[in-house]
Amino acid sequence: MEKEEILLHICCAVCGRLFTQLLSENYSPVIYYDNSNIYPEAEYMKRRDETRKLAEKFGLRFIDGRYDHEEWKSFVAGLEEEPEGGKRCDKCFLYRLQKAAGMAKQEGIARFTTTLSLSPFKNEIRVEEAGEAAKEMLEFLTPWKEFEKKDFWRDNMKIVRAEEIYRQNYCGCEFSMRK
Ligand code: SF4
Repeated sequence: MEKEEILLHICCAVCGRLFTQLLSENYSPVIYYDNSNIYPEAEYMKRRDETRKLAEKFGLRFIDGRYDHEEWKSFVAGLEEEPEGGKRCDKCFLYRLQKAAGMAKQEGIARFTTTLSLSPFKNEIRVEEAGEAAKEMLEFLTPWKEFEKKDFWRDNMKIVRAEEIYRQNYCGCEFSMRK
């Protein structure tokens, strides 16, 4: 039986590696990279190229989003001084998940999910709230609730290290660089 499509928003190949594999067991993921939060653009492209390689590895379709860091900065304006994990990040999740929902709609895909909640630094409840706020008529899936996050991350990082996937040392925006 043909697997149903799901749009999988990936923030970086590190977060996407094992999740893509697990999601592929039940769905046919379409990989979507759209992360205008990332600064500078060269870093955005580096993470994008690693994500593209990941899609190729699993033989999945890859959709390259539009980079507009100025638009993202306007969206989070006034929250520059927030700590990582604070209100700026909530808006950042919403910004990216609205883009993902928009692309899913454009592609005629009824459901979407994201890697945003997977890292130990990210609050999965906030990500779920953003996904619910962004989804409109679509279904926002939270498959991470089916596994133990700590174990998942340990297994994921073992693969990431073995495959020498590029690992950045800051979340993405310029405000996370100075921490
Ligand atoms: S720290 Fe990360 S999640 Fe938070 S606003 Fe910056 S890029 Fe987005």
